[in-house]
Amino acid sequence: MGVAASGSARPAVLIAGIAGLVAGSMSMAAGEYVSVSSQADTEAADLARERHELASSPGAEKAELVAIYVRRGLTKGLATQVAEQLMAKDALEAHARDELGFSDFSTARPLQAAVTSALTFASGALLPVLVSAVAPQSTFAWAIPASTIALLAILGGIAARVGAAPILRGALRVMFWGVLAMAISAGVGRLFGTTL
Ligand SMILES: [Zn+2]
Repeated sequence: MGVAASGSARPAVLIAGIAGLVAGSMSMAAGEYVSVSSQADTEAADLARERHELASSPGAEKAELVAIYVRRGLTKGLATQVAEQLMAKDALEAHARDELGFSDFSTARPLQAAVTSALTFASGALLPVLVSAVAPQSTFAWAIPASTIALLAILGGIAARVGAAPILRGALRVMFWGVLAMAISAGVGRLFGTTL
């Protein structure tokens, strides 16, 4: 968008598009990998500490769980029963879920998250790159943003539908932030394109 707005010819727009696609995919993958890895490390450390505490002071751990259930509204007697029965089945799981707030075990897969992020970014970036490859150069100013906005609306709608949220609101939200990002990119491109 930025390079197209500066009035550059097709090769420059296309190269910038492909570079943006690759750079964006790699940056999404790296960011996701680091983020999910550190989350997995934190979870593993929390579980190890919990396992150690359960082995060294089971009484205090049971009291901890009872206090949590009382805070959530159970009576002391029922909370004690619940804590005892859950800990008899799987003490670590009971503490992981109710004390640490883990809803699921070993869900963090850094490599999978990284590859998924890279592929989804690349597939989203592909349409504007394709448009800059095939559309007449004179139409770039509206064809690239229009096709991108249409794709953003469709993706926002699909995401909302999959999440059972209102489709129109989801589409509008993605469109709004996408258009804002494009307007800033185009603004920067125009600024440098006209002052050169
Ligand atoms: Zn505990």
